[in-house]
Amino acid sequence: MAEPAPSSDDRTTIGDLKRLIQEFVDERDWGKYHNSKDIAIAINVEAGELLELFEWVREADIPDLLEDTEKRRRVGEEMADVVMLCLNFASVAGFDVAETVGRKMARNKAKYPVELVKGNYRKYTELRSHKAAPDHI
Ligand SMILES: [Mg+2]
Repeated sequence: MAEPAPSSDDRTTIGDLKRLIQEFVDERDWGKYHNSKDIAIAINVEAGELLELFEWVREADIPDLLEDTEKRRRVGEEMADVVMLCLNFASVAGFDVAETVGRKMARNKAKYPVELVKGNYRKYTELRSHKAAPDHI
């Protein structure tokens, strides 16, 4: 039996996606509208559009929602809007996504040590003293 084809996530770099978005923006001369503040606002708006698709949906019904072809397409498109805007934000504000995410994950690991939080959803402030935890997550 042949190996399944690798997903495009395995073949596409963050840089590839940033260039794809930049090309879209440049072709439309929209860069003049894209500042960090407005993109941050747009991220929140698009996150709201994603959230709206789940509004009033009972947790037990979410698997059915995600299996419905049309609803799944809409969820994917709103998720993509959020991801694209985050990548655009990174480009405009000068963040290297891989470096920034890697650094933040290192902070998260320090903040949420496995031995302290495994299987426990509580926020770090409920788990240990503030003195041992970083200021902001
Ligand atoms: Mg949208």
